[in-house]
Amino acid sequence: MDFTLNEEQMAIRDTCREFAEQEIKPLAEEMDRTGAFPYALVRQMGELGLLGLPFPEEYGGAGADFLSYCIAIEEISRGDVSMGITMEAHTSLGASPFYLFGSDKQKEQYLPPLARGEQLWAFGLTEPGAGSDSGGSQTRAILRDGHWHINGSKSFITNAGTDMSGGVTITAITGKRTDGRNEITNIIIPKNTPGYIIGNPYKKMGWKASDTRPLTFEDCVVPEGDTLGGPGDGFKQFMRILVGGRVAIAALSVGLAQACLDEALKYARERKQFGQPISKFQAIQFKLADMDTEIELARLMYYKAAWLQMQGKPYSREASMAKLFASETAKRAADQAVQIHGGYGFMDEYPVSRYWRSVKINEIGEGTSEVQRMVIAKNLGC
Ligand SMILES: Cc1cc2nc3c(=O)[nH]c(=O)nc-3n(C[C@H](O)[C@H](O)[C@H](O)COP(=O)(O)OP(=O)(O)OC[C@H]3O[C@@H](n4cnc5c(N)ncnc54)[C@H](O)[C@@H]3O)c2cc1C
Repeated sequence: MDFTLNEEQMAIRDTCREFAEQEIKPLAEEMDRTGAFPYALVRQMGELGLLGLPFPEEYGGAGADFLSYCIAIEEISRGDVSMGITMEAHTSLGASPFYLFGSDKQKEQYLPPLARGEQLWAFGLTEPGAGSDSGGSQTRAILRDGHWHINGSKSFITNAGTDMSGGVTITAITGKRTDGRNEITNIIIPKNTPGYIIGNPYKKMGWKASDTRPLTFEDCVVPEGDTLGGPGDGFKQFMRILVGGRVAIAALSVGLAQACLDEALKYARERKQFGQPISKFQAIQFKLADMDTEIELARLMYYKAAWLQMQGKPYSREASMAKLFASETAKRAADQAVQIHGGYGFMDEYPVSRYWRSVKINEIGEGTSEVQRMVIAKNLGC
């Protein structure tokens, strides 16, 4: 067993770490306060090749492996999680369905501007009545005269409403399967399609500078060929997309947890009480030691899940375990980081207050902790 990162993985980690430290972190407080989408930083990420890391160079990507991509997500999220989720939702949810399931023509048409970071793309699965029960979609697409006529709505969709957004791929019911269940198909909807209505951004507790909106489809019409794969392929496709996304969200959580430890350690060394830095008190040292230990474990869990993916082996169980453990590790780390800051941790001028607000969503997005436990239990044969 070799835990050493190869040269490319280390180079990507170092580039992202430097970019996060020098460019992202100084703007993180302002981004959280204003909630403004960070166009300049996102474009810089594109120029660095970070918005197309795992895609082949022929499609404008960087040709990096899946672990490198996850490590990049960790480092960017260590700088700011709004940036981390913008990158993750664009890559894992928005662009990768084109790469994994698109025809050659679709890949050539859609992937290069996404991989080069000139455009963002969204994936719309969640609906007002279909969250954890993602197969319970109510959005319908009816085939008429060679076109899909789409009606329905989607909730909480990331990256659909920015000036850089090219469109969204949505799940829709397109018929009934022979077993009586709904046939679900992934349909490509470019931004200016008539009947595709992008709602106002939600007001959020965290991830404030990321773009999250409701979407509505009112007699929205796209050509019959604008599906990923054929009718009925959608359910299997989005399950596969979500498994990869969970590893990336685990990496995002590790990045945030690491940021909590960075700030807590720095503060504990500076803050003096009873005549000495609080880092000299064993109670504080043990908190820091526990954070460090859990973060290392969570990191190894997402490394292993990514490694399995790269070997072409099943990794759904490990992806769920990594996402579950890393998101809960990040929550504990944020809580302890605020505790170590005492009253100052409750003040917005300290980053840990922002980390504490932002961490909760990690246990909800791309499958709640309950859903991850359901996947793990199913693997146990329950
Ligand atoms: C900021 C943000 C960004 C997002 N981005 C996207 C995006 O880009 N694309 C997209 O499609 N979606 C996106 N989502 C949606 C996200 O994936 C869902 O919120 C999530 O899957 C949970 O669905 P829900 O909110 O409807 O909760 P629900 O499914 O209603 O769950 C409510 C509670 O019930 C629990 N629960 C539900 N079913 C069960 C069960 N069978 N057993 C035990 N407990 C259960 C859940 O775990 C949870 O605790 C985003 C959400 C947020 C908040």
